[in-house]
Amino acid sequence: MTISQTLSEIQELIELDKKHYLHPTTVPKLFQEKGPKIIFQEGKGIRVTDVKGDTYIDGVSMLWNVNLGHGNEELAKAAYDQLSTIAYSSSFYSYSNPNAVRLAQKVVSVAPGDLCAIFYTSGGSESNDTAFKLARFYWNLKGRQTKKKIISITRSYHGATVSAGSATGIEAFHNFAGSRDIDIINARGHVTNCELGDKTDSNYEGCIRDTIEKVGAENIAAVILEPIQGAGGVHVSPDGYLKAVKDLCKANEILLIADEVICGFGRTGQWFGVDNWDVVPDIMSVAKGITSGYAQLGGVLVNKEIRDTLNEHDQILGHGFTYSGHPTACAVALKNLEIIERDNLIGNAKNMELVLKNGFDYLANKHKHFAKPRAIGLLAGFDLQADPDTDTPFEQSIRAAAFVVEHCFNNKLILRAADFEEGKNIVAIAPPLIINKEEVEEIISIVDDALTAFEKTL
Ligand code: PLP
Repeated sequence: MTISQTLSEIQELIELDKKHYLHPTTVPKLFQEKGPKIIFQEGKGIRVTDVKGDTYIDGVSMLWNVNLGHGNEELAKAAYDQLSTIAYSSSFYSYSNPNAVRLAQKVVSVAPGDLCAIFYTSGGSESNDTAFKLARFYWNLKGRQTKKKIISITRSYHGATVSAGSATGIEAFHNFAGSRDIDIINARGHVTNCELGDKTDSNYEGCIRDTIEKVGAENIAAVILEPIQGAGGVHVSPDGYLKAVKDLCKANEILLIADEVICGFGRTGQWFGVDNWDVVPDIMSVAKGITSGYAQLGGVLVNKEIRDTLNEHDQILGHGFTYSGHPTACAVALKNLEIIERDNLIGNAKNMELVLKNGFDYLANKHKHFAKPRAIGLLAGFDLQADPDTDTPFEQSIRAAAFVVEHCFNNKLILRAADFEEGKNIVAIAPPLIINKEEVEEIISIVDDALTAFEKTL
């Protein structure tokens, strides 16, 4: 049932919002002029309804996290049941709770390779900060105290806390705080040949291999990568890249951290993004899809070697969050994973990838600026270019992705523009994993109209 609000209630919300509420990745000055773009009220399946009663397709699962779609009553019940039993219990000082234990077992059972234990956090940024600290702690325990630096790559998004934000390879996210973690280095990404050792490649300078050579492996704790970069523009790791980086890390005694915050738990048609290339990281960060966004939870998985090393020493893990292992978040996550398996949502993501790709073929034939379509499971995107045949971008003044996303919004489809990089106009599509064929086709049809409208502006 849609409970829309009266016009005066909506106006009051807008005024109060402008007055008291600071929004992430929003220009405060502009917000004072325009107010909130949409005020969400409720959701069901792949759709969300705002306070005015308008219903939209959530084509990006909000922030790539609502994998089970909105209004799932089984998840709501799991949260209610747990909250009515014990609202909260701590994980510090060896305290535990059944849901956190069972979830640890479940996540480890679906994780690749020998990842065998999880440290809980409340979200993705905390997971990546924790991953960096665990990597450094591991090397400390090994007597390798100089191994402190972390290498991340261009166009990555790893979060907004100081360390995860420093690892984020999108410049736009660095304006805010000014200071950065000096032990984090951003290397050139996705240059497979270079990571395999081809020094004649013009991209060699600044690649991960070059960075390791210049900084010294003895100073580097870990490399962090998203198997498929999300916020940076849905950039899929080129074939062979993850393996090349893994081998490079191994040869240099550097840990590989996979940031699975978006890719994890079925988004890419596999349990984890790395499974698409059969690469096993030493550490894996998760969040978002672990609860489908119904509760705040993240985690960091470590492999057997790290786990054994922690077990061999008597040093305290001097780290943790009040909400590490929150019983309600873990109850929701357990139910979420149960539903993903029961309803074969990973298989559905794979099947819907094909429907999306068919739609992309149709759009590519019809629209001459439609470029570089890609979809792995339900993590998808495309570029808009002046000339796809010659890889020529639009002039900076043509905000093609922003136009298309706005047009779709006006036609009740929420998508996301990634236009952080100069000349790049990327549109991201990542609907809930419960989506069906007709709904994917509805998305394609709305995008089709937006592309037609865009062409008329040129
Ligand atoms: N890592 C990746 C790949 C992400 O996409 C995000 C958020 O979008 C994060 C980390 C940060 O997660 P959070 O916003 O939960 O801190």
